[in-house]
Parts: sequence; structure tokens; C-alpha cells
Amino acid sequence: MTDTEHAAPRTAVAFREVYGAEPTGVWAAPGRVNLIGEHTDYNDGFVLPLALPHTTLAAAAPRTDGVLRLHSGGADGGVVDLRIDELRPAPPQAGWAAYPAGVVWAMREAGLPVGGADLHYESTVPTGAGLSSSAALEVATALALDDLFALGLERQRLARIAQRAENAFVGVPCGIMDQTAAACCTEGHALFLDTRELTHRQVPFDLPGEGLRLLVVDTRVKHALGDGAYAERRAGCERAARALGVRALRDVAPAQLPDALARLAGAPDVADVQPLVRHVVTENHRVAEVIACLDAGRPRAIGPLLTAGHASLRDDFAVSCPELDLVVEAATAAGALGARMTGGGFGGSAVVLVEEADAVAVGAAVTEAFAAAGYTAPRLFEAVPSAGAHRIR
Ligand code: ADP
Ligand code: MG
Repeated sequence: MTDTEHAAPRTAVAFREVYGAEPTGVWAAPGRVNLIGEHTDYNDGFVLPLALPHTTLAAAAPRTDGVLRLHSGGADGGVVDLRIDELRPAPPQAGWAAYPAGVVWAMREAGLPVGGADLHYESTVPTGAGLSSSAALEVATALALDDLFALGLERQRLARIAQRAENAFVGVPCGIMDQTAAACCTEGHALFLDTRELTHRQVPFDLPGEGLRLLVVDTRVKHALGDGAYAERRAGCERAARALGVRALRDVAPAQLPDALARLAGAPDVADVQPLVRHVVTENHRVAEVIACLDAGRPRAIGPLLTAGHASLRDDFAVSCPELDLVVEAATAAGALGARMTGGGFGGSAVVLVEEADAVAVGAAVTEAFAAAGYTAPRLFEAVPSAGAHRIR
């Protein structure tokens, strides 16, 4: 049994304690890490996330009176009591409940026959570590409602609804990767997602079977410049695409990069965005190269591509930070096959690919480097490519 299956009875018991009745079922959706393909999603590019064994569980039962009650073992403040016909975007003090309430709102906006419900959540996805606890919460909710009200929605559609909840209801301008990963990943695979076409493919990534480990190092820092810097990078990429006459930077092929950079260099108002373009174009190419290695059964060969991706995010896209750089430096010095920051940057987590036999030593080296630098001790865990959202009971 997986940890998620072990947690299901606990979640059902907690539901009974909160609502005094049996849940109809328990649904799970995982957190994710992105193996490679960073800051490519808003450039119509490629991403390659995998689902974590860490999940958010939703125990749920339908209601017939249009009331939505939400409760989380991971949040203070008791039961949040709402009426589904009164849900409005960007509720001022809704807090965490805006994520699941937004899913109900987005479903109703789409004309789906969703009613009220009681929901209780338990989660093992670290929040705010760049591992997408928000998408896990949304997708667990979407799948539960899909089953409770027999909506019969496809996984991609559930992901779109969850993204709309976060964009339009909560007010976070995230791409489609996190929700797609939570909805569509499968065990033993990474998920290749084309964020323009919204097509995806399972890419074999059986780490235990290959004698490899993927460590996630949560630096436990979140630097304040993150939000503004994200908007700035995004705007810079859009400016570059306009100047180059393409719909998005995805449309610049690696072979066209030197020419594209030369054109930007010649125009004073966009000369500054050259490094952004270089990152996005080379990063999309690295995603393709990583997939080629994995398809060919050569997972160790992705190590240098991961490390090159980090250098590009650090030097060209300028979204790393000293803590993330130190993870990569210490891990590769201690024998890791490759390492990179994952997620938006300015803190959050890094991924480290190691031989199974080296995992403990590399983890210890990172922890020691943090202590020597006077940083807060990082949190380390293993990312085993796991299942996407599913019903547990
Ligand atoms: P990330 O998605 O990277 O973990 P976000 O800031 O996008 O970080 O989302 C974190 C927020 O999602 C939390 O602050 C909380 O509001 C909400 N959240 C996620 N999981 C839960 C949960 N199990 N219970 C309550 N709220 C949750
Ligand atoms: Mg999130």
C-alpha cells in the first residue's frame, strides 16, 4: 500500500468527526516537481513534470441544498461555509478555501451541473515549497466533484477547470503545468506537456528500476522579489516575441537563435531581453534532449542537461538565489549526476539526480554546505514518479 492509501481511512475518519456523517468517497491528487522546462510554460513551450508520492486527499459527500462546506486538517479556522450561488472571484478574506471554492465556481461558470458538497482535506504536500500544493488541492477537489456529480470530465478538462479556478477566482496567474501534472501523471513516468497544443505524453522514468534517485531539496526560503520578478520576466519574453514577430518564444527554433539574438541586439528597446530569449530557446531544446535520453533508456545521460538548465536559469534568466545555487554546487561536487532549481525560483526547491548508492552522501553534503553557509537546514525527500489524481475509496 502507498502512503496515500494508508492515509485514506484517516481522512474518512476526520470527515466523520467534522461533519458527523460518512463521506461518499476519498480522492487524491499529488504535488509535482518539474524535471526540466522552467519558465517555458508562458512561452507556449515544453515542460516535463512528474507527480510526487505526496498527495492531498479529499473526503467528500454531495449536498442537495447548494451549500459548500470546506475543512482542512492543514488550515486553522474551522469549517468554511459558503453558498455555491454566491461564489464570486477574488473573495477578499477567503484564504485557502478560495482554491476549492474556485473549482466549484469554475465548473458552474462552464455550465456543469455541480451542486453543494462537504469536503475535508488532509495533505502531505509541503505548501509554498514550489511543489504545487495548490494544484493538488484544486485537482483533488475537481476529481471528487466530477465523481460526486457524474460529470464525466476528461483529465485535461479537469486541469483546465482547476487552472481557471486559480487564475480567475484566487487571482494567481499560473500556467497549466501544475494542474495537468496533478491530473494526468502516471507512476514510473514523467509527463511531457506541450503548453501550446495542450497535448501530453508519458515518458518512461522508472528511477527505482534504474538504480537512481531523484532528491528534492526544499531550501525553505522564499525571497520577496519573486512575484515582481516573475511578472517582469514574463513581460520581457512577450516583448521579445513581439520584436521577433513570433506568436511566442516557442516559435524560435534553436538554429534560429543566433539570428534572433543579433536582431534584438540591434534594437535598443529590446537589447536587454536577449538573455531571456537564450534561456527559453535553449531550455525548450533541453526538454527535447532529456526526453530523447529517457525514451532511449539512458536516464543517467540527463544529468548534465539538468545542470546546464540550472546555469541558464541562474545566468540568463536570473531567477536563482544563493541557496539554490549552493544545492547545485554542493550536490554536483559530491558526485550527483545533475542538479537544478525547479519551480519559479528565488527559493523553493531544487532537484538532484543521484545514483542510489550516492544518495545519502550527496544529501549529507548539501545539508553540511547549508550549515557551513549559515542557512536554515534544508528539507530533503525523494521524488518517486507517482500516480496522478485518483479515487482511493
Ligand atoms: P504551492 O502551490 O507551491 O505549494 P501556493 O502558494 O501556490 O504554493 O499554494 C499554497 C497555498 O495553497 C497555501 O497557502 C494554502 O492557502 C493552499 N493549500 C494548499 N494545500 C492546502 C491544504 N491541504 N489545506 C489548506 N490549504 C492548502
Ligand atoms: Mg501553487
